[in-house]
Amino acid sequence: MSVIKYKVNHNPITYNHRTRMYEVGRRVFQSYQDAKASQWQCDKCKNAFASFKELRVHKNKAHAY
Ligand SMILES: [Zn+2]
Repeated sequence: MSVIKYKVNHNPITYNHRTRMYEVGRRVFQSYQDAKASQWQCDKCKNAFASFKELRVHKNKAHAY
């Protein structure tokens, strides 16, 4: 079985003390939970997922390659 190498975008969560918001890449969230749910971003359609597993399932379903 061949391994398909996915190009993934993992964005670390940073807390901005000045704005009191969580930042993931260029996006800003009020709660850590929301930020966490958008850590993994699909490079094809820009949908965001909470885990690599979800992203991988999404890619298989939505982009099937
Ligand atoms: Zn996608």
